[in-house]
Amino acid sequence: MSVLLICTGRDPQVWVNAIREQQPNVKLYVYPEAHDPKEITYAVTWRHPKRVFNKYPNLKVIASIGAGVDHIICDPEIPKSALVTRVIDEQLTKDMSTFVLALVLDKIRNISLHHSEKKWGPKPYQTVEEENIGIMGLGVLGKSAALNLSKNGFKVSGWSKTKKHIDGVSTYHGERDLNDFLKNTSILICLLPLTLETECILNKELFEKLPKGAYLINVARGEHLVEHDLLEMLDKNHLSGASLDVFRIEPLPQEHPFWKHPNIQITPHIASITDPKNAVNQLLDNYNRMLANKPLNNIVELKKGY
Ligand code: NDP
Repeated sequence: MSVLLICTGRDPQVWVNAIREQQPNVKLYVYPEAHDPKEITYAVTWRHPKRVFNKYPNLKVIASIGAGVDHIICDPEIPKSALVTRVIDEQLTKDMSTFVLALVLDKIRNISLHHSEKKWGPKPYQTVEEENIGIMGLGVLGKSAALNLSKNGFKVSGWSKTKKHIDGVSTYHGERDLNDFLKNTSILICLLPLTLETECILNKELFEKLPKGAYLINVARGEHLVEHDLLEMLDKNHLSGASLDVFRIEPLPQEHPFWKHPNIQITPHIASITDPKNAVNQLLDNYNRMLANKPLNNIVELKKGY
């Protein structure tokens, strides 16, 4: 009954410290240190090497340290018997909605643009009331971002798979509503999970349905975006710009054309990062639930993919 921590591209030590501080008696191994695979029942993971879980015959739970689980589900060989869980955390959710609001305000008031253009003088700008913000994905993060933008005076609409009712937000759902959702959206924010249905959803065909001059914010996953379609739409001035926090390859390679594009703003996947000190409680709570044969929290429906 041991825990395996697999943390690719993130510092595992902060998780080790947080777990040990909270529950010192947990037997914890950090992949790839030597351990007996038969002992492992609970894996805490971020971007594990594909097919690695095949080696663990007694694995019961694969817990994502983030809100997204695409990094787990994209593995064709995750054991069918294992449950997959994700993090739902108040601070993570707040951080995302604050970040999105900051990007929207930066865009409408030309804050970064004044600096990059190095020209002294006012520029025309849109007021909060003039913008139509459209959020793709009205889950934990999308709904919170929508409410925060609405609270700050923006007209907000959102699009999800199933119907939603959110005070102050116009809601659309399903393929059938997508065109209506897009046609008035001046700032499009992607907060969808990455699934087979949503991969490459930010493409030329979709951008063409937005009004001319629309702006894109992608804080979900790099694989949602067809990169050359974005460049084409920017170069044709159909889109006015984009703020991207996530990329197909991370870190974004230095030679990538996005770095040099004057209308693309880049941040290094920092919109909201799980704080181990906050999330470790729910990871260990689920571990203890597993040991006590109690139902787990934040289970992901593998069939749905998110
Ligand atoms: P949730 O699972 O809570 O919500 C997903 C939303 O997307 C739901 O509203 C769902 O609709 C909707 N959706 C899913 N598939 C479709 C589809 N095919 N068509 C229309 N709508 C769809 O996810 P979270 O809000 O917690 O997180 C969203 C994503 O944000 C994560 O998966 C992750 O990739 C990303 N993320 C990025 C971070 C960053 O730092 N940049 C940090 C954390 C997360 P319905 O409600 O009807 O099911």
